[in-house]
Amino acid sequence: MAATGDPWRALARLIAGERRRYVLLALVLTIGAALPLAGPLLVRSVVDRASGGGASTRDIVIPALAYLGLAVGSQFVAVFVAWLATISAWNTANRLRLLLAGHVLDLDLEFHRTHSPGELIQRVDGDITSVSDFLGRVVTKVASAAVLVSGMFVVLVAIDWRIGACFFIYVVVAGRLSLRTRNDAVDQSVDQMSAYARLFGGIEERLTAGEDLRSNRAGPHVMWRFIEDSAAVLAASESAERAFVRFWARVQSAITIGLGLALIGSAWLLDTGAVTVGTTLLLVQYALLLRKPLEDIVDNFNIIQKATGAMVRVDELLSIRPAVADSGTTSPPPGALSIDCSDLGFHYGDGEPILAGINLSIGAGRSVGLIGRTGGGKSTFTRVVLRLVDVTEGQLLLGGVPIGEIPLSELRRRVAMIPQEVHILAASVRDNVTLFDPAISDERVRVALRSAGLDALAEGDLDALLGADEVSLSAGEEQLLSFARIWLRDPDLIVLDEATARVDPGTEERLEKAVSQLIRGRTSILVAHRLSTLSAVDEILVIDGGRVVEHGDRSTLEGDGASEFRRLLELALEVDA
Ligand code: ATP
Ligand code: MG
Repeated sequence: MAATGDPWRALARLIAGERRRYVLLALVLTIGAALPLAGPLLVRSVVDRASGGGASTRDIVIPALAYLGLAVGSQFVAVFVAWLATISAWNTANRLRLLLAGHVLDLDLEFHRTHSPGELIQRVDGDITSVSDFLGRVVTKVASAAVLVSGMFVVLVAIDWRIGACFFIYVVVAGRLSLRTRNDAVDQSVDQMSAYARLFGGIEERLTAGEDLRSNRAGPHVMWRFIEDSAAVLAASESAERAFVRFWARVQSAITIGLGLALIGSAWLLDTGAVTVGTTLLLVQYALLLRKPLEDIVDNFNIIQKATGAMVRVDELLSIRPAVADSGTTSPPPGALSIDCSDLGFHYGDGEPILAGINLSIGAGRSVGLIGRTGGGKSTFTRVVLRLVDVTEGQLLLGGVPIGEIPLSELRRRVAMIPQEVHILAASVRDNVTLFDPAISDERVRVALRSAGLDALAEGDLDALLGADEVSLSAGEEQLLSFARIWLRDPDLIVLDEATARVDPGTEERLEKAVSQLIRGRTSILVAHRLSTLSAVDEILVIDGGRVVEHGDRSTLEGDGASEFRRLLELALEVDA
């Protein structure tokens, strides 16, 4: 998961897309930063005129009014700059957030298995918020400081080139010394943010698995992990803080030394008669003017650190490519899809083969009950058929077309999965069935619910909230609801991974009925843990140890005394008895 070089590239591309707003921002920002430079110039002219004698009241009042106007004007410009900078930053950050969220959603199962939701939330939300703070608050301050320093240089050179030269040397030396400590601190910040992501990810995972962990008395282990993660956060935060304090000390020293130099230098220049009283006042005022922007940068330095760390991680995330490539262009014929495997094999990563030497054909429109011991590779086989993972050996054809050559959008449209664990969204019944597609009529939603055997919901209020306290569903009913979703999508191939949780006999009967409705006219693979749910299927496929043990007509196998299916059926009868 190597970063691709410049972590700011993605951000730069987004900013380039909003060029106009940023150009306007740069313009007002330059004006806003240059305005304070004029104040000391006015003071200088007043003082010099007054000390030279012969200045009328008018000569003093007019520059004084101008000074006042300047001060008020600068405040207005400063507010406008802050407003424009915040809007631009939010816009850019939101687009980055969108880009990242879309990218994460496109990544495959394997990625999501190894990255907890908590970690991803921290990345998509927390990291981007840091970037937004950086753009809105820090970038404008750094740019203002740059404009101020350059403007000062120009004014000073115009007054006396030697003063300008000294100022230049001072800025270069002080800048270099401060920047050196800055880079060091950025590295520390990256470590600190990853430590936080690990801590939050861990907490999220443990909260989700709370019931399992408690019932298995894994509490002490979980507490230890928490303590370890927290200790890592503490250590990383300490180093980051230390680096920050070093940086702060250097910048403060630079400011103080600068002010000292300006005082001593101007006193000396005044003594030798090289400059006027007005100019010495200007020099001291400029030295004081430098203080504020530099302190601002230091105060917001942790934002720079966080944002740089965040962009490194954003870039890392964006450079992860989905393992399943979407390069296909061939569409299988319309209607139910046949499945053909030749010498199909699969292994996760560099691991042992999970599936090997699978040769089989499932005709279009046939329904197959997939059974076998736990860990035998049933779910893995369905993942290959759904192309959640790519086959690593041999070939898999859907409707006669190699699965890799079918465009992913078409594949996802025509092949549907009913997972073991159905997620009910905190939304209305209608939205849970249509998955927020407003084009689907209420009539169709009711038909789908009825076909899934959820008559009560079909007759009821489609606006009732699910998941919340209004209507709550049992595990079996949740599966039925996912049938209704599939019913509306009308796919050509269905994979159903049966819920392992036991459902009550009444619900089981409803499930069976709904399944037999759903598989009509489509190819279907039903991964079954209860053999009783297989009464409606045409064929039986037994997979064990990653190989096909048996594949044939259900009725034939049922009648064959030597078949594995028959043996399993008898076993199930014995258990039930
Ligand atoms: P069950 O009946 O319990 O659902 P299954 O037949 O569906 O079992 P699979 O989930 O396909 O079995 O698992 C087959 C083997 O693959 C198991 O040994 C499992 O540990 C391994 N396995 C599953 N998923 C992964 C993964 N993402 N990475 C590595 N190994 C995996
Ligand atoms: Mg499984």
